Amino acid sequence: MMHAIRRAVGGRPETGTVVILHADADAFFASVEQRDDPALRGRPMVVAHEVVACPSYEARALGIHAGMPLRQVQRRWPHVLVTGYRAEAYEEASVRLFEVFRRFTPLVEPGSVEEAFLDVTGRDRGDPRGMAVALRAAARAEVGLPVSVGVGRTKLMAKLASRRAKPDGLVVVDAELEARVRPRLRLDELWGVGPTTYEKLHAAGLFVVADLQGLDEDDLKRLVTTAMARRLVSIARGTDDATIRLPGRAGRSARAGRCPRRGPGPRSCRCSRAVSIVRSRGCSRSTGRRVFPAASRSSSATTTAPRCSSAARSRPRRSTRPSCGPRPETCSSARPTSGTGEA
Ligand SMILES: [Mg+2]
Repeated sequence: MMHAIRRAVGGRPETGTVVILHADADAFFASVEQRDDPALRGRPMVVAHEVVACPSYEARALGIHAGMPLRQVQRRWPHVLVTGYRAEAYEEASVRLFEVFRRFTPLVEPGSVEEAFLDVTGRDRGDPRGMAVALRAAARAEVGLPVSVGVGRTKLMAKLASRRAKPDGLVVVDAELEARVRPRLRLDELWGVGPTTYEKLHAAGLFVVADLQGLDEDDLKRLVTTAMARRLVSIARGTDDATIRLPGRAGRSARAGRCPRRGPGPRSCRCSRAVSIVRSRGCSRSTGRRVFPAASRSSSATTTAPRCSSAARSRPRRSTRPSCGPRPETCSSARPTSGTGEA
């Protein structure tokens, strides 16, 4: 249920309904490459050096995921195009993307070089969907990139919605939808719940958020850390985090997506670090896909319906690959090693 804001953060209005957007550029590095090179558009390609840093959605449809050894990709899918990193291009795109975000609200919490939470409470004129549509359109028009957006009352719901929205879509979790999906969320799909934590919860017979009902922090502290117990209780009660942490504030330097050596915010992050972040992610989990409805998408999207056609296979290759091997693994079989989401 939508509820009144309990406290103001960084200039947010003190009353009203909380509206959090999670904006996340789709397949960021690959989308920048496809934006800048028409020959790559609509084709399976990867940004890689020894391992895949970022596959395009066309490549993901084949089963290629971040963290996969490049030689394996070249062996199994010889038609897949390969590009190297262009850190300056990614950094420039990141800066422009955040300039768009900050035009909609000053309350922007970077999650990485290409994703952020935005608190647009009181700025959406009662139309969060309209604001999200405008943000996606601005990112497409001004930066040339597809950005999926999730809208929710908390950061968790917004993030789950943006995951469901990918690629190049929009999902709005209103009060009615949240009431339906929150209890059904699987605990292993909650960001921050890793395999070890989930094993303990699973062993105790806890599988979905609804299973947490009636448990308090002390109950859960017998299974997981105090911080996790507190978080799970808040998720079960619908009081989870909606606070935007602004870059540069004391005690926030360890947040994902920011470069502690060079100061806060994506502007000061070097994309060599971003590359290493994405390389270490592996494949993202399919968080939220089981319980959320289908996303609304842009008809002009260039990365929707990622399929590799036979015609595409017959086009000239950017590089020549050895012959194919066995069937690919699926993305859902892999788990991320770090990071909070997909590239
Ligand atoms: Mg992304």
